[in-house]
Amino acid sequence: MRKKIIAGNWKMNKTPSEAAVLAKEIAEVAKDAVCDVVICPTAVCLDGAIKAIADGNVAVGAQNVHFEEKGAFTGELAGNMLTEIGVKYVIIGHSERRQYFGETDETVNKRTIAAINAGLTPIVCVGETLTEREQGIMEETVRRQTKIAYLGIDGDKAAETVIAYEPVWAIGTGKTATADQAQEVCAIIRDTICGLYGSDVAEKIRIQYGGSMNDANAAELLSKPDIDGGLIGGASLVAEKFAAIINAAK
Ligand code: PEP
Repeated sequence: MRKKIIAGNWKMNKTPSEAAVLAKEIAEVAKDAVCDVVICPTAVCLDGAIKAIADGNVAVGAQNVHFEEKGAFTGELAGNMLTEIGVKYVIIGHSERRQYFGETDETVNKRTIAAINAGLTPIVCVGETLTEREQGIMEETVRRQTKIAYLGIDGDKAAETVIAYEPVWAIGTGKTATADQAQEVCAIIRDTICGLYGSDVAEKIRIQYGGSMNDANAAELLSKPDIDGGLIGGASLVAEKFAAIINAAK
């Protein structure tokens, strides 16, 4: 049985003081959670959020990590900077990073390796655009993204990572993939991992769905056999809505 994992991607929302308040509210509603719960505020809010919920069972994740350990990379954050303040997870290759910041399958692979080396758990995002789905290359796209993300990573390390299937057409649009569509692609991703590492790793790795997941659709999505959690944007910014998703993961 894989433990479900519900993660909130706060994107570029919340100032440090607002983030500390929301982190505390989420720690309160998540105190009896039976799944793993992660919040991912912006970099400048990480330390405050970690301190605000130090005693709770909610982990904090970053929204990106650089692939080098240090050096002349203005504006970037290294893995050990994140782990030193208590960050546990990091989102890698979110479609907004791919779309607006030139993230590629290759840089996703490098960042995933760097995250693992630093002791962070990567949440590796994959997912097709609407055009790719309409062109009939959804499967090819997510298989390629998954294979490249895991290049050079050993199976025992891969098993501990998390993959988020996020169809780009469903992110922030209010259009959710149906539970059957999401299950179909999560199964394809698990099969890709099986092809790379074998069934033991494929059975261990956790695969989330992300894309307009909310209190109304979470239970059905999370009931599917290959969906082990959710990566949630908009609904993670309101504690009660996020709580409903956490409760749906029972
Ligand atoms: C996301 O940004 O990862 C996401 C899934 O956003 P939303 O839930 O708002 O669609």
